[in-house]
Amino acid sequence: PDNNAPPMPWFGMDIGGTLTKLVYFEPRETNRRELDKETEILKNIRRYLTRNSAYGKTGRRDVHLQMDNVTIRGRRGTLHFIRFPTSEVGAFLQLARSKGMATLVNTIYATGGGAYKFEVDFIKEVNMNLSKLDELDALIAGVLFVDSMNPQECYYWAPPDSITSQDTPPYLEASLSQYARKPFDFSNPYPFLLVNIGSGVSMLVVNAPNDYYRVSGTSLGGGTFLGLCCLLAGCSSFEEAIALAAAGDNTTVDKLVRDIYGGDYERFGLRGDLVASSFGHMCSAERRAKVSREDLARATLVTITNNIGSIARLCASNERLERVVFCGNFLRVNPLSMKLLSYAMSYWSRGALKALFLEHEGYFGAVGCLLHYDS
Ligand code: ADP
Repeated sequence: PDNNAPPMPWFGMDIGGTLTKLVYFEPRETNRRELDKETEILKNIRRYLTRNSAYGKTGRRDVHLQMDNVTIRGRRGTLHFIRFPTSEVGAFLQLARSKGMATLVNTIYATGGGAYKFEVDFIKEVNMNLSKLDELDALIAGVLFVDSMNPQECYYWAPPDSITSQDTPPYLEASLSQYARKPFDFSNPYPFLLVNIGSGVSMLVVNAPNDYYRVSGTSLGGGTFLGLCCLLAGCSSFEEAIALAAAGDNTTVDKLVRDIYGGDYERFGLRGDLVASSFGHMCSAERRAKVSREDLARATLVTITNNIGSIARLCASNERLERVVFCGNFLRVNPLSMKLLSYAMSYWSRGALKALFLEHEGYFGAVGCLLHYDS
């Protein structure tokens, strides 16, 4: 063990616009001497974090994402993935304080806007210095590290054999349910487009670990999806919005090419079942009176997802990239958006682009922060 290593506990934190992501490194107990060195407070914190999967009212540990056998600064251990709403930072600090965090002299690496916004609160409440890192640097470092440690990390959605990218209508319900998740070998990744769908969206061209730039973004992201679902369908959680969308039908909300043409717009190869105007049917009072919450949630999801898909596709073709990697918590428990993105990428590029996804979705910025204990 490295005697100059910073004191435990080691956390990486990403305090985002909607969710705070916390990655905790649990060191493997190496020998008696080390165990004895661990203070009671540290032991209690470790036990509290690793023996529970819910903390307070809104903190959750994503147990299915836990990574064992990770090495950081020569120490082997386990990574634990925890999240809570950023609106609950105050409650988190109270909890951390009640567990004795304030008595440990500590610096944690943090990113996201909240690392600036809440810096003073961290010092006051738990005596923690936030060492701030850039969120895009952290994001990329996190993606590359997690992918190198987990052979299952990167995957794609394969369409059923009966479907080719040229000839299938985008929203054919039956075809989406037949998409199957398959592992993708990401060991030779460069160059690729990284699309992070959080509250908002950032798109980065990544040429090498330390060679990237932000090409584009959009404010129409995961926050827009959830905000509109709350307004239009009276949702009160992301999970509820996703469940409604999964049960809905957007064609009662969106105006399709066939609603305007009576069929395909053949001259430019636009099929009748493509959306011509998102929410276009909602100009009619009669249709508004009949529309369901499920259909509104579905149309919101399709609108936001396809908009991100078309911007990503334009960026990728402009930059001559073939692989587009999507991450961010908008894709959490949201296979529908992943399949729509997979379909759209391949359909509109005539099969030239491949949509890829990552198992640890929204945690890469926090992992990137944790890696700073390594340097
Ligand atoms: P940020 O860093 O901006 O908070 P994230 O990558 O954490 O970004 O993604 C936030 C988005 O993830 C939300 O806008 C929402 O669409 C989606 N989301 C997934 N799970 C949740 C959740 N439990 N609560 C709120 N939003 C969630």
